[in-house]
This record gives sequence, C-alpha cells and structure tokens, in this order.
Amino acid sequence: MKYIVAIDEGTTSTRAVLYDLTERKIVKQRATPISQIYPKPSFVEEDANEIYAHTLSSLVEILESVSDVGDIAGIGITNQRETVIAWDKKTGKPLYNAVVWQCRRTAEFMRELSAKYGKIIRAKTGLVMDAYFSASKIKWLIDNVPEIKEKTAKNEICFGTVDSFLIYKLTGGKSFKTDVTNASRTMLMNLNTLDYDEELLSIFGIPRAALPEIVACDAKAGYFTYNGKDIPLCGIAGDQQAALVGQGCLLPGQSKATYGTGLFMLYNLAENIVISEHGLITTVGYKIGDKVAYAFEGSVFNAGSAVQWLRDDLGFFSDAADSEQIALSVPDNGGVYIVPAFTGLGAPYWNSDARGIITGLTRGTKIAHITRAVLEAMAYSAKDLTDVMKAESGIEPEELRCDGGASANGFLMQFQANLSGIPVNRPAEKESTALGAVYLCGIGTGVMRLEDIADYRRTEKMFMPATDENDKYLINYKEWKNAVRKCVLE
Ligand code: ADP
Repeated sequence: MKYIVAIDEGTTSTRAVLYDLTERKIVKQRATPISQIYPKPSFVEEDANEIYAHTLSSLVEILESVSDVGDIAGIGITNQRETVIAWDKKTGKPLYNAVVWQCRRTAEFMRELSAKYGKIIRAKTGLVMDAYFSASKIKWLIDNVPEIKEKTAKNEICFGTVDSFLIYKLTGGKSFKTDVTNASRTMLMNLNTLDYDEELLSIFGIPRAALPEIVACDAKAGYFTYNGKDIPLCGIAGDQQAALVGQGCLLPGQSKATYGTGLFMLYNLAENIVISEHGLITTVGYKIGDKVAYAFEGSVFNAGSAVQWLRDDLGFFSDAADSEQIALSVPDNGGVYIVPAFTGLGAPYWNSDARGIITGLTRGTKIAHITRAVLEAMAYSAKDLTDVMKAESGIEPEELRCDGGASANGFLMQFQANLSGIPVNRPAEKESTALGAVYLCGIGTGVMRLEDIADYRRTEKMFMPATDENDKYLINYKEWKNAVRKCVLE
C-alpha cells in the first residue's frame, strides 16, 4: 500500500488529502468551500447536499490523481462535530438543511431543561447544558418540521452527525455508523458505557433506531466503490479529536489548540473520566481497538470567524493572512478589546445570551487596532482555557501544540507565547485534523502502528515567550476579562 486518503469536512470548507506512506506526509490536497446559511439571527445552517457534493468532488479529484486506486489502504473521515443532518432512511435524501454546531436556535429550550436534568446530563455525558450539542438540534427538527416528525414516528428517518451522513452516502446507504468521538458530542451517549443512554434518549424524545451504530475510531465503516474497486472507509473522528491524534498528543497531560472558525483546546486524560469544575467539557479523545482515552475540552465558538467577519463584512482586508501585517503596523491594541461572542460564549463562561462587544474605542482607533484586538482575542481565549486546565490538573502545560487556519499567523502565535508564558509549538504539517484521520485509518487498516504515531510529528517553529514582558501581557489579560464581564452583563 502506498497511500491513505482522508476527508476533512470542516465548517467552512471540505477537503480531501492524499498521504504518501513512504514519504510520510500529505502530498496533495483539494479543498472546496461550504456556503454558510444564516436564515435568522443566531440560526446557522449548511446545505447537506452541498456538503456531500463538495466532499465527493474533492475526494474524486484526489482519487483521480493516483495511478492505481488499489494502492490506497483506505479513506479516513474527520468532520465538523455536533452539526446534525436528518435524511430519509430509504432514499438518503436530506429532509432539512444541516443544523450547524454554532446554531443557537435551541438556547431557550436548553435553559429550561437545565433545572430539571442539568446534573444528570452533565454526569452522564461530560457536556454542559448548551445548544451547541446535537440532541436539542435533533429535537428541534422533530418538533418543527412536519415531514421529519412524521418520518420519525414511522421509523423512516436517520439522524446523524456529518461523519455518519458521509458514510451513509459514500457506501450507497449500506452503512449507518458513527464513531465514538462524534457520538460523545450528541448529548445522547453515556461516557461510561460508550453507548446511547435510554434516559437521555427519552429526555430528548429521540428513538434509538434513528441513530447510527457507534464504532471505534479505527473501525472499518464500509466501502467506497470507485472504478470498480472497493476502498475501505476506515478511521473516523470528530475534527478536534482527530487533531489531538494528528498532533501526537497520546500521553496524559498533552494538549493541542486549534485556531479555526472556533478555538478548541483538548487535553489528554487517558482512561480517566474527570468532570471539570471550571466549565470544561469531558469528551472521548479517541478509541482505538479497546483502548479509550478521554479528554478535557475547552470550546470557544468564535475565533477565526472574527477574522472572517473583518474580511467579509467590514471589508478591512481581502485575505485573512493580511491581518498579520496590519496588526503589526501598530505597536499595541490602542486600548481596544473585542470579545467576538457572535453566538454566545463557550468555555469557560458558557453564556448563550452573551453577544459580541468592542471596548475602548477612541477617535484615534484605527482599522489596525481593531484587527489586532481580534487576533489578541484568540490568544486571550486560549489563555482562559490553559488557566482552567492548569487549575483542574495542577500541572502547567509544557508547551502548546497549535494548528488550524489562524495558526499560520506569526503575530498571533508569538503573542500567545508571550501572554501564556509557555512555548507555542507549531508543527511542520498544518493539517493536523486530516493527519489524525490518516493515522486512525492507517492503524485500522494495519499499515501503521499506534506506538509509532507520536514520533511522526515534526516541529516547524517554536515561539518562545518573552519572559521580561510578562507583566505587560497580564495587564492586557485583565482588560480582556473586564470586556468579557461587560459582554455578559449587557
Ligand atoms: P475550519 O476547519 O474551522 O473551517 P480552518 O482551520 O480552515 O477552519 O481555519 C479557517 C479560519 O482561520 C477562518 O476563520 C479564517 O478567518 C482564519 N484564518 C486563516 N488564515 C488566517 C491568518 N493568517 N490569520 C488569522 N486568521 C486566519
């Protein structure tokens, strides 16, 4: 076997990559954007048909570039998590747009549910009571879309996260499976049993028969037939968990931060299910064979999305990468702080009602200050999370392994190191998420060994903290906390 292919179906784009087993790196990739649909304030959707069509075209383009698809060991899948798709069990036709993880349409419902079931749900799932997770989105679809209600009653429907939808479509409806990391984000799976929990299913009124079978991350989920050859679909994980594996964070205490649309930090807890007292989620990091590793997760909903907002809505620049030079054109943020709580605040604050805020505007505020404040906001959010992880574990992380689109921003990475006082380690391979799916596929198909994965990682650059300036950064951080407080109150 010469290659592994991975699909990385992200929030803003879907890509396929070709990994060369001899060179041990990604040698080709093809990405296609996914349109975002905002039907109402705080509603976020995507077209499920587009998700599949764009994923398929990226995949086919990669497969076409290989002279013999018989050289491909398998296709791994990683995906935006929590996003829910409902489709017809017989035809595979989506019955509504995909309800995206960022969507807040069920915030009120989750608040009401919290008083009665908050404790039970947190204990069983490790999650916090928030509209972010899949269960309330599925319930909304059943309650609000007559066709979905009818088909649910008749057992003619499938509900699933994007991994299960893609597997279903790519196998021509033969396989209806999800992996344990994606399932751990539905709010329907019990962390102890790694199976759907009857009480949770009944709280949300979701029939088990409508949900995919839960399998390990390295399990074979079916076959994709291409040019008459069956290629195994093997290696599935939610994007953040895949990045944890892709960054080689396989030991307890190792952590990674992904700076994408949102900002997600995962901390490996090995086999221990620890429920956080400070607003972290407990989730499944990965399950490989029988070996399960849990993880703490800090999820910040808006990070790179604020850079996108500056680019697309405010028109400050035409390329997200330009934000670096613009931020560096001013010596500091000019007293401007931005909390981009466009869809509420996630970890560690968990406030659905919060909305974004800009503080410290003066007549002298320039585009550069605002741009800088948006980049700094990502670093402050990451510090919020490392501080909490330190408080929970009592251990200061040795370094922060970074990835995601915005980790390309050198200003941000250096600012992060200075602010957090720990080295920021950026890998040579930026596509950690796709790489994680490649590794899980490699292990599942027997062309890689779990014990070798951590050695595959190469550092591209270490950003060392400027120790003499730490006080200055801590003052900035205090101002950030003040801005967060205002955005929660107002
Ligand atoms: P996702 O997988 O969530 O779709 P990516 O990891 O591809 O996201 O990252 C895309 C995000 O990163 C976008 O929101 C974009 O605005 C931001 N981004 C990309 N490049 C840069 C950069 N050089 N500086 C700052 N932000 C960036």
